[in-house]
Amino acid sequence: MSQHDLASLYDAIDNAARDINDSVVEWRHHVHQYPELSNRESETAAYIVERLNEIGIDEREITTGLAGHGVVAFIRGRAEGEGSARTVLLRADIDALPVKENSGEDFASEQVDSDYPGGPFPIAHACGHDTHVAMLLGAAKVLFDLRDAIHGDIMLVFQPAEEGPPLGEDGGADLMIQDMEEQGLLDAAPSMAFGIHIGPGPVGFIGYGRGIQNAASETVKITVTGEQVHGSTPWQGIDPMPAVGDILSNIGQIYRQIDVKERFTVSLGHVVDQGRFNIVGNQVEIWGTVRSLTTEVVEDINERIARYVEHLAAAHGCTGTVEFFDQVPPVVNAPEWIDAILPTYERVAGDNPVVQLPAAMGYDDVSEFIARFGGVYALLGGQDVRLGADGTIEKTSEDSRGLVPNHSPKFYVNDDALVYGVRLHAHVAVDHLMGELNAEVEGTEDNA
Ligand SMILES: [Zn+2]
Ligand SMILES: [Zn+2]
Repeated sequence: MSQHDLASLYDAIDNAARDINDSVVEWRHHVHQYPELSNRESETAAYIVERLNEIGIDEREITTGLAGHGVVAFIRGRAEGEGSARTVLLRADIDALPVKENSGEDFASEQVDSDYPGGPFPIAHACGHDTHVAMLLGAAKVLFDLRDAIHGDIMLVFQPAEEGPPLGEDGGADLMIQDMEEQGLLDAAPSMAFGIHIGPGPVGFIGYGRGIQNAASETVKITVTGEQVHGSTPWQGIDPMPAVGDILSNIGQIYRQIDVKERFTVSLGHVVDQGRFNIVGNQVEIWGTVRSLTTEVVEDINERIARYVEHLAAAHGCTGTVEFFDQVPPVVNAPEWIDAILPTYERVAGDNPVVQLPAAMGYDDVSEFIARFGGVYALLGGQDVRLGADGTIEKTSEDSRGLVPNHSPKFYVNDDALVYGVRLHAHVAVDHLMGELNAEVEGTEDNA
């Protein structure tokens, strides 16, 4: 394909993205107003399928019910040429959070999930996944209408439960990939995965990590078992509580046992006991999360946690066990992929900054896709701030809402950011399928 043809394809994408912007904003507001928690995204999935039908994507190209409420749809490029055998995977997560929204938007959520385990919970799209859904739908429309000029296939992945399924349920990217495999959707393996996360930063700003971008994560459950007894006669039973106290305080020693250059956190945020003021309970559960930039450090931490739990419980006559689950690998953008994608980022961002960022301790299970298929995860700014001359962030005006982090009740996204996300998905897809964007590296599963 000549550079001239490519340039006209880019123009066509940008014009189409501008033309459908009102629809994308409307889709975003709808999804935002009716958020659903992880593994409960049935209405969101139905809304996505309705929009895909409206766009004109054939029913036979749409698969629903993946990992619960996941949706996958294919757009088949019809032009012949380099990249015709390729498939680019574009991923959006679709779930919301148990947060009471206080964004001040007139399309703010008033939804409550009464049946969710541990609930009832107010629900909000406090991580911006509503914008992810709308941006990917927008890109679907743009790419579908341009399919005659595009080589290869585009796989749209709308993934549930990124924020983690409720305890005791399976879900998220890992299960989604398993289900996609079982249904034959990965028979032609994607040659690149791409996703976007919206967040604090100027509208149109694109951020990226070179190498590790997001931490590895897991959930830890510690169970300490003693023997229940009347509170007045503790010697007749075994109190698990002193062992729990020792475990909570000693786990802090792990920070002194692992090289200070490693970045990790161990947070035990939830303790559940079965006692009462006059009953020494039988068992205590401690729940927490481990984050680290590498899976090796997570494994090292796990051994240390297990050792403390076993021996500190035994020291008090109790038994202690540890379980680790919801393990998510770090998001790793291979440097080769970053080098390959930077021209696309620059083109989409235009006058807005494209900035390399340090690794963050938050996780994102998009890592399952990138570890497997190669590719990149982008961070897109969507708030009313700008980069000052000295590189610091400042408000765009006196009364602007400034920087608000994801998961805050006040988290917000300016609709002006959506068109950048639509264009980013579409430019990345086209660049990869037309042979302009590729890295000669496999997925980074070694790091996963
Ligand atoms: Zn989140
Ligand atoms: Zn998120």
